[in-house]
Amino acid sequence: GTKLVEVKGLKKHFEVENKQILKAVDGLSFDIYEGETLGLVGESGCGKSTTGRTLINLYHCTEGQVLFNGQDVHKMNSKQKKAFNRHVQMIFQDPYASLNPRMTVTDIIAEGMDIHGLFSKKKRLERVYELLETVGLNREHASRFPHEFSGGQRQRIGIARALAVDPSFIIADEPISALDVSVQAQVVNLMKKLQKEKQLTYLFIAHDLAMVKHISDRIGVMYLGQMMELTTSDQLYDHPLHPYTKSLLSAIPIPDPNIEEQRKRDILEGEVPSQINPPSGCVFRTRCPVATDVCASSKPDWTEVEPNHFVACHLYS
Ligand code: SF4
Ligand code: MG
Repeated sequence: GTKLVEVKGLKKHFEVENKQILKAVDGLSFDIYEGETLGLVGESGCGKSTTGRTLINLYHCTEGQVLFNGQDVHKMNSKQKKAFNRHVQMIFQDPYASLNPRMTVTDIIAEGMDIHGLFSKKKRLERVYELLETVGLNREHASRFPHEFSGGQRQRIGIARALAVDPSFIIADEPISALDVSVQAQVVNLMKKLQKEKQLTYLFIAHDLAMVKHISDRIGVMYLGQMMELTTSDQLYDHPLHPYTKSLLSAIPIPDPNIEEQRKRDILEGEVPSQINPPSGCVFRTRCPVATDVCASSKPDWTEVEPNHFVACHLYS
C-alpha cells in the first residue's frame, strides 16, 4: 500500500515539576497506509493520546519526524497547515465534553466547514442534513443541542463534525470507551462503513485489545511511551510475540474454558512505572515474567522479525 503517514523516531517529552522530564512518547517508528485502520492500544498513560496529538501537530515534537503524504507536519507554513488541518480530523473519547453545549448540532457540524469556507449559506444546511443522515441521525436533529442526545448519538454528531470537511485521515482517540457496550459495536460499524464509502484512513486508539479487534487491519501495542509490537490484527491475536501483548490478550475473556486456563498464567502484575524515571533497558522489564539480566542493561531494538511483524524484545533479536 501507499504510506500516508510515516513516523520516524518520534519523541514528545514534557517538562514537569522540578525540571523533571516526562517521556510521554519516546522513540516511535511506524507507518500508516492509505485506507487502513491502525489500532493503537496500551494502558492509560502509555502515550497513545500524546502520539495522536503529536502526529497531527497539536503538539510540537521533541525529536523525530512525522511525514503526511511526504510532507513534514512539524515544518509546514501557514498555508500548508490550513490544508493539513482539513485533511486530518479527530474524534474524541468523551462525546459529552467535546461538543459545545451552547451550540446547535448544525453549528457544531458546520464549524469546520465555515473555517475552511467550504459551503455557501444556502448549501451549508443541506450539507448538515446530508451528514446527519450519513451518521444515522436525521434533519430534525439539526436544531437541537448536545444535551438532548444519548452518548451514542453524541458520538455520531462528533463523527459528522469530523466528516464535514472531507478529511482523508481521522484519529479516533478512544471513540467508544465512554459508551455502553451495546452502543460500541454500532459506532464501530458506522466507522467501518464510512471508511469504505469515503476511503478514510484511521488511527484508532483504545486501551484494550478487545475494542480494536473488529476495526483494525494492523495493531500497535504501546507501553510507557514506546511501541512493543506491531503487526496485522490476525497475527497479533493468533501469534503474539511480545510478553506485554500476551498479557494484554490474557485479560480478554474467552468462552472456551480450556484456553482460559492456559491464558490465566500470563496475567499482568504490578503497577505501570513512572514515565519520569522509566526502567533502564527494556521499559517493560519490571513487569515481564520472562525478563533476564540483559533486559536491564540494554534496550531491545525495534525489529521486523518476520514480514510486517515488528517487536521490541530481546527474545527475538
Ligand atoms: Fe521481557 Fe526482556 Fe523482552 Fe523486555 S526485552 S519484554 S523484559 S524479555
Ligand atoms: Mg488517552
